[in-house]
Amino acid sequence: MSGLNIQNVTKKYGEVTAVQDVNLHFNKGEMICFLGPSGCGKTTLLRMIAGLEEATNGSISFDGKDLTHVPVHKRNIGMVFQSFALFPHLSVGENISYSMKIRGHSRSECEDRVKELLDMIHLPGIEDRRITQMSGGQRQRVAIARALALNPEIFLLDEPMSALDANLRESMQIELRRLQQNLGITTVVVTHDQTEAMTMADDIVVMGRARVHQTGSPMDIYKTPKNKFVADFIGTSNLLPANLSADGAVAVNGVAMKFENKSDDAQAGDVVLMTRPEEVFVHKEGNKPAGNALEGIVNFIRDIGMTIEILVDCDGQEVVSVMTPKDFPEVELGEKVYVEMPPSACNILAA
Ligand code: ATP
Repeated sequence: MSGLNIQNVTKKYGEVTAVQDVNLHFNKGEMICFLGPSGCGKTTLLRMIAGLEEATNGSISFDGKDLTHVPVHKRNIGMVFQSFALFPHLSVGENISYSMKIRGHSRSECEDRVKELLDMIHLPGIEDRRITQMSGGQRQRVAIARALALNPEIFLLDEPMSALDANLRESMQIELRRLQQNLGITTVVVTHDQTEAMTMADDIVVMGRARVHQTGSPMDIYKTPKNKFVADFIGTSNLLPANLSADGAVAVNGVAMKFENKSDDAQAGDVVLMTRPEEVFVHKEGNKPAGNALEGIVNFIRDIGMTIEILVDCDGQEVVSVMTPKDFPEVELGEKVYVEMPPSACNILAA
């Protein structure tokens, strides 16, 4: 099978299961983000793709070639570590061409490639600079150039933005994504930052406690999360206790709610109705919607200019709505309102 194929992969460290029975397939040239909270096994999975850790069970292949037992130096992989791991005593050029020298490339080949890579990362002419003379953002670019020096087939990055400040992080996410698209290189990035994953990925793998919870495009995962963990981890969501009857009808506080999406795990009985705040609309009491609406009392309004966030207490359950100033119904604190959740916005998840 072409692309990156991870089959039944498990990694145990003694009693600790870091990665449990993971099955994933990605097409060549895709940008994949492993996303999840600390300790969920993202780095371990990345390190197994790199060959820095051996899987306890399962196999990893790329383009039909089984990599499971191929040692790290024989895999055609470039890696950027969280700390960048640059050699401080070497110049920028020596850092970038390090792996080329080891593989016996000539001095002029190394010099040409360094020049080409420095142009690519928009830092031309700095080959003689010391690593210690560079900013965090510049070091990251040099680490990227070094990882790409040998034209790897797979590019792996472990939390590449964590050492950068917030502004720089955002611009580097865009720059890294552009670079990856221009090169068309299969890339895996580990991150715990959902915005980063949403910005860069073709496919996001949401992980929690050694397992994969969901894989899909950023929009799929945002719009139709498979479970509460994913809904909570990606974006803000309203999670309301609900009841699913045997004939497939859903009610919240006894109010019937139509829906368009239901997770396979949601069984008749207690379930959760999940909505995204920007798909929830507040109406004044006199404008009661035709259906899919709960009664409530406004208990907080936060106007941040571009959007207005309205918190509504619906019989003890707080529902958040985010509306534009144009659509905001001018409700006030303590006012009785209707909170409309159109069927297309309603996802039924297991409780
Ligand atoms: P973080 O975002 O904090 O780096 P992560 O999602 O990348 O977390 P991993 O570093 O893959 O998580 O760790 C997964 C689990 O495996 C954790 O419980 C961790 O303590 C454990 N673990 C990782 N490496 C080892 C090791 N070399 N020996 C023992 N346990 C390990």
